[in-house]
Amino acid sequence: MDFYPAAIEKLIEEFAKLPGIGYKTAQRLTLYILNLPGDEVKEFAKALVNARGTIRYCSVCGNFTDSDPCAICSNPNRDKSVICVVEQPKDIMAMERIKEYNGVYHVLHGNISPMAGRGPNDIKLKELITRINGNVKEVIVATNPNVEGEATAMYISKILKHLGVKVTRIAHGIPVGGNLEYADEITLSKALEGRVEI
Ligand SMILES: [Zn+2]
Repeated sequence: MDFYPAAIEKLIEEFAKLPGIGYKTAQRLTLYILNLPGDEVKEFAKALVNARGTIRYCSVCGNFTDSDPCAICSNPNRDKSVICVVEQPKDIMAMERIKEYNGVYHVLHGNISPMAGRGPNDIKLKELITRINGNVKEVIVATNPNVEGEATAMYISKILKHLGVKVTRIAHGIPVGGNLEYADEITLSKALEGRVEI
């Protein structure tokens, strides 16, 4: 291992804490930062602190937002009778990219995984149930097409059917084991179009 001054080692350590960043990459990012003009580094640091300080979760749907309710929930042109359920806020970004969906969302912030000991109480399911009223016509479950995502979809379907709401699942255009966020727009658009009742 190389030996750097403490300030550099510290920065490498911080980068290495990020998901998917190993020591080598952390080192490369650090050296890149050190070669940037001071102003740009300040902007970068400011953006980090600012994002963390102003962004919170929408109290309605659980999406990231800097205003509550979020821009989607407070948009009068969005159809509130259709709720698309996703695992993470980044999945909303994926759905929004296809520009075809005009309903609203609900972020579970996780999935049900009996294997990992995560149950219905570990995700924002109660919050979804409280949103179901006579005005909600359809809940589209767009959890990821893997074991956890399917288990989550089945559970949601079982619960919501008791409430008399139509529950659909996006079609399997997305490769099994894949993630919504990596699906291209056409695949995701087809998956949405071909959704089936569950
Ligand atoms: Zn919202």
